[in-house]
Amino acid sequence: MAESEWDGERPVALVTGGSRGIGRAVVEQLARDGYDIAFCGHAPSPAAEETARRVEKSGAACLHQPCDVADAAAVGRFVKRVEDELGPVRTLVNSAGVVRDKNLVMMADEDWTTVLETNLTGTFNLCRAVGFHMLRRRRGAIVNISSVAGVQGQVGQANYAASKGGVNSLTRTLAKEFARHGVRVNAVAPGFVATEMLDELSDSARKKALESVPMRRFGTVEDVAGLTGFLVSERASYITGQVLQVDGGVLL
Ligand code: NAP
Repeated sequence: MAESEWDGERPVALVTGGSRGIGRAVVEQLARDGYDIAFCGHAPSPAAEETARRVEKSGAACLHQPCDVADAAAVGRFVKRVEDELGPVRTLVNSAGVVRDKNLVMMADEDWTTVLETNLTGTFNLCRAVGFHMLRRRRGAIVNISSVAGVQGQVGQANYAASKGGVNSLTRTLAKEFARHGVRVNAVAPGFVATEMLDELSDSARKKALESVPMRRFGTVEDVAGLTGFLVSERASYITGQVLQVDGGVLL
């Protein structure tokens, strides 16, 4: 994104789940694109400190703290801090997410609620808190990181697929609500991406997963970050309400 797109003002991007994985790659992409960065993870970690080091090395300002996206009050405090200390948030990327895979009859209440509260309620909490400011300013772009599991059912992922299907519906609804106020909302639905989340698969499940991808490789975090950076830029100024798959053709 050229800085001139923002009238010379350095825009602020807020990224959840920015400490590692896809969120970290999005943070690095947006820092390269000229944004100052705010990000959160769930807990303090060396990974979060490493992400912050990378942002600062690129010359962008960086504010980061732990924030449980499932906790609406904590999200409200985080967003207020970002707006007060960094400036108005122009771009929000919701990447925080968890998996707790189990076949349905073996799924504990906690497996269900943790995944729904983090992936779906967390996305809602951030869209509401940041969306409030974006609507007032009549400017902004949101990308929710969903999953192909939200498009097609996945055995062992009832909780995760329900949460990501919810994120896709939330995205389309907010896109419609926010469109006339100058705020775009899209989702990116990755297939298998090489991160710690994928490390949770057994060797045989990884092999099976790879065989299901027509392109015969797992996606990289940069594959997802590249599309995300495009969607929040002015080059995508007429795109809203879309759920775009980055999946090597896995759903074909
Ligand atoms: P990851 O490497 O496991 O990283 C998860 C991130 O989410 C971390 O930054 C973690 O923070 C944060 N997080 C988890 N729970 C949180 C909470 N309650 N509050 C705030 N932050 C929280 O995952 P990933 O692979 O990058 O996945 C990122 C997104 O892409 C997720 O929404 C996931 O569902 C989606 N996705 C991933 C894949 C894949 O194959 N990897 C495929 C499709 C979709 P901490 O570091 O503090 O734990």
